[in-house]
Amino acid sequence: MLYIKNAHILTPVRSILDGALLIDGEKIVALGPLEQVACPVEAAVLDAHGLILTPGWVELQINGGFGLDFTADPSTIWTVAAGLPQYGVTAFLPTVITSPLENIARAQQTVLNRPHDFVGATPLGLHVEGPFLNPQKKGAHNPTYLRPPDLEAIREWTPAQGVRLVTLAPELPDALQVIRALVARGVVVSAGHTAATYEQAIAGLDAGIRYGTHLFNAQPALHHRDPGLIGALLTDRRPVVGMIVDGIHIHPAVVDMAWRLLGERLSLVTDAMEAMGMPTGRYRLGDFEVTVDATSARLADGTLAGSILTLDAALRNLMRFTGCTFQDALKTVTLTPARLLGLDDRRGQLAPGCVADMVLLDGSYRVVKTIIGGRIVYENG
Ligand code: ZN
Repeated sequence: MLYIKNAHILTPVRSILDGALLIDGEKIVALGPLEQVACPVEAAVLDAHGLILTPGWVELQINGGFGLDFTADPSTIWTVAAGLPQYGVTAFLPTVITSPLENIARAQQTVLNRPHDFVGATPLGLHVEGPFLNPQKKGAHNPTYLRPPDLEAIREWTPAQGVRLVTLAPELPDALQVIRALVARGVVVSAGHTAATYEQAIAGLDAGIRYGTHLFNAQPALHHRDPGLIGALLTDRRPVVGMIVDGIHIHPAVVDMAWRLLGERLSLVTDAMEAMGMPTGRYRLGDFEVTVDATSARLADGTLAGSILTLDAALRNLMRFTGCTFQDALKTVTLTPARLLGLDDRRGQLAPGCVADMVLLDGSYRVVKTIIGGRIVYENG
């Protein structure tokens, strides 16, 4: 048992200034004001005076990190997962971009086979971004492997077989059929790397799309007479929408504008590539060489190729760009992604019965400790 005392417990829906929380095994069993949560004699005690305790953070789009790329080598998923708690990430969707179907199958196998001694962030299944994307909006995806949506190709894409989220372009032939088939199996479908018109985007939402991949990036710009996918994602109440808030992928003023429209439909993602957590230099994303400077990762022609953003920095950026509170920002990496994935009874909040995944932060919102499944897996310094 682990008893955490004197913490400022902060969730998207609660704030307890002088709180205590009790963990038994992998689960939270009690929390509340300090005087209301008894400390069992057998519990280890963690004094969190001066620290904020939040639910663990869920990241829906990350391509790799620490010099490793999931698409180039899916077996690296677990190594990267072990490093993510330093950024507050306790669960995530390893993202495999456009590549041969056999490569996606290899990633499915990897994500389903948790190593016995593994300690780190929990992969909840893959985010498969591609290959059913619009070649006009390919970004840093290899056009060789782009293909039209195909029911046969997705036959084994289910949550039980390691696929949790699929990004596709809803305007492609047969896309609506593929969306319906995936949704019927419990896979979340997202619109991204697309040239969809507003009408095509709404048809995709009607077919079951419930996520938008990196809003504003790899999609036509918003036009007041032709609102396109961006107009649909900003105004339709159904989808959760991802944004890369590094200050480069989207101008801070546009982040502020989108935040006001999206509110709790916003999901912060990093879309980080292998240079995250590494020095500047030359790296890969999928099949391409990428040059990384202090702030961005780009192909030779200047196209942005993922980011080097970390999720804790994304939260601080959102507060800076919009003036929102930390509690408001917190929702974008806890309850909102957990709800999207249908996991909000176990993740994304702090409540008895939930998985004991949590983050302790200092007053500057820097990660001090990360707890996963009731175990302290990261300690700063
Ligand atoms: Zn992308």
